[in-house]
Amino acid sequence: MARDPIGRKKRRRLRREVGFGCPVEDCRVPFLEYHHFDPPYNEGEMHNEDGMIALCPIHHRQADQRAWSIEDLREMKRANNRGEPKGKLGWSIDKGIVISGGNYFFSTSLTMRIKGKELFKLEQDHKGKILVNALLWNNKKEIIAEIKNNDMLINHMRVEDIDCMASGKEILFKAPDDSNHVRIRFERQPIEECLSKAKNTLDESIVENVLSDIKERVDSGMVNVIEFSTAIKEDDFTFHAGDSKITFDFRKAGLDKAEYYGRAHGVNGALNIAQKDGKELIYLGK
Ligand SMILES: [Zn+2]
Repeated sequence: MARDPIGRKKRRRLRREVGFGCPVEDCRVPFLEYHHFDPPYNEGEMHNEDGMIALCPIHHRQADQRAWSIEDLREMKRANNRGEPKGKLGWSIDKGIVISGGNYFFSTSLTMRIKGKELFKLEQDHKGKILVNALLWNNKKEIIAEIKNNDMLINHMRVEDIDCMASGKEILFKAPDDSNHVRIRFERQPIEECLSKAKNTLDESIVENVLSDIKERVDSGMVNVIEFSTAIKEDDFTFHAGDSKITFDFRKAGLDKAEYYGRAHGVNGALNIAQKDGKELIYLGK
């Protein structure tokens, strides 16, 4: 069986149809699964979009028990004037590592700022649990989706896509016009896997330090890993934190070819890029 039998585009249309939140009245949870009701999956094993609807895991189970008629579900698909999706990250972590663009961060306070806007920020609550903050803006610089101390606030009319895995492990916010996105993944990784990934990614000069920092954060043989990736297009530069590196491209700013490759600033290193007039452009650090 294919790994994605429904298909990426169909899933996205089904999410968009319900405004990126469970359509059952007063629910609006953005962690969605895909329910087959016409025909039910065990009768048809087909992915007929008209007979499918995105639901949160709880309402998906209830729909499997035929809590709603086919006509009820069709009506839920058609409804408009939906409220904003409401969700919360359920992670409860007090120690872990953050990986972004191939950089390893071991501090539980971390900020990534682009022109004064806090793209990504980790803080701790009074019990020492990590709180996630993130922002997504569109090309008019309007904030269209946000995570505020683990609470998700989404302007569903303005975003291109919100894809929250039902397991809660991965969240993607995407702005229209193929411009900006932010993706946050959470995983409890076996220590061996975590160490071997670090060995494969990092420069020799820092790898030993990173490995020992990772080992300090082991909990029952596992390490909590938060991965943050993003692409931001500003008028004068682009910022990209992918799987293995952080890249800035200032060619639009008139520079011939100025790309900064991450990792050079090392573990927990702060990065601070300013405009000529001293105004902060990009900040990455505590
Ligand atoms: Zn629901």
